[in-house]
Amino acid sequence: MSQNPLQRLFQSFEKLSICIQTHLSNLTGHHPYPSSPSEEKILVSSSSPSSLSSSSSSSSSSSSKVTPLQSRDATQILLKGKFAGPVTKEELGRATWTFLHTLAAQYPEKPTRQQKKDVKELIAILSRIYPCKECADHFKEILRANPVQTGSHDEFSGWLCHVHNIVNRSLGKLVFPCERVDARWGRLECEQRACDLQGTTTEFGK
Ligand code: FAD
Repeated sequence: MSQNPLQRLFQSFEKLSICIQTHLSNLTGHHPYPSSPSEEKILVSSSSPSSLSSSSSSSSSSSSKVTPLQSRDATQILLKGKFAGPVTKEELGRATWTFLHTLAAQYPEKPTRQQKKDVKELIAILSRIYPCKECADHFKEILRANPVQTGSHDEFSGWLCHVHNIVNRSLGKLVFPCERVDARWGRLECEQRACDLQGTTTEFGK
C-alpha cells in the first residue's frame, strides 16, 4: 500500500535529522541522547531558587524528594559532563538552519518532481508548525514575498541563503555571502555517500 506523502516526508525528515545529530555528535563529542541508561544522570540542584517555588503556601518543603517544580532543574540532564535540556529560540534556529542548509547542500542538480514537491511541502509545513510562533509568522511573510525555488541545487541553496539573510537582517545580524554557501555547507560524510539524496532515479519522480 502506498504511504501518505506527508508521512513519507516526516519519515525522511526524521531520518535526516537523526543522521545530522549523529554527525554533529561525532564532531563535537556532545551526545544529545544517552546511548545507554547508565550514561544518563538527572541533575537536581542543591540550591532551590525561589523562582522555582510554585504556589504561595507550599514552599516549606525541605525534603530531598524532587517535586514537579524542582524538576525544572531535573530536566537538565548531565551527559558526559554537558547539560542537555529544553532549547532556546537561538539553538532551535541554528539546528533548523543546519538541517535546511544541509538538505540544500545535498539537493540534486536535477531534482525529480517528487523531490521538488517534498521540499515545497517541507518549507510550507515548517512555516506553519515551526515551534517559535514569532519566527513562524515572520517566515510565512518572507515566503509570500519569496516563494521557494526548487528547480535545481543552485536554485534551492541560493534561495535558502537569501531567505536566511532576510531573517539575519531583521535580527541585526551580518549578511552571509551566498557565493560561499557551498563552502560553508556540505554533504554529510556518511559511509559510501549513503546519506546522499538521489536526484536522477525515477523511484519517486514520476
Ligand atoms: P544562525 O542564523 O542560526 O545561522 C547558523 C549558521 O549558518 C551561522 O553560524 C552561519 O555560519 C550560517 N549562515 C548564516 N547566514 C547564512 C545564510 N544566509 N546562508 C547560509 N548560511 C548562513 N529568531 C528570531 O529571534 N526571530 C525570528 O523571527 C526568527 N525567525 C526564524 C525563522 C526560521 C525559519 C528559522 C530557522 C530561524 C529563525 N530565527 C528567528 C532564529 C535565527 O534565525 C537564528 O537561528 C538564531 O538567532 C541563532 O543565530 P546564529 O547567529 O547562531 O546563526
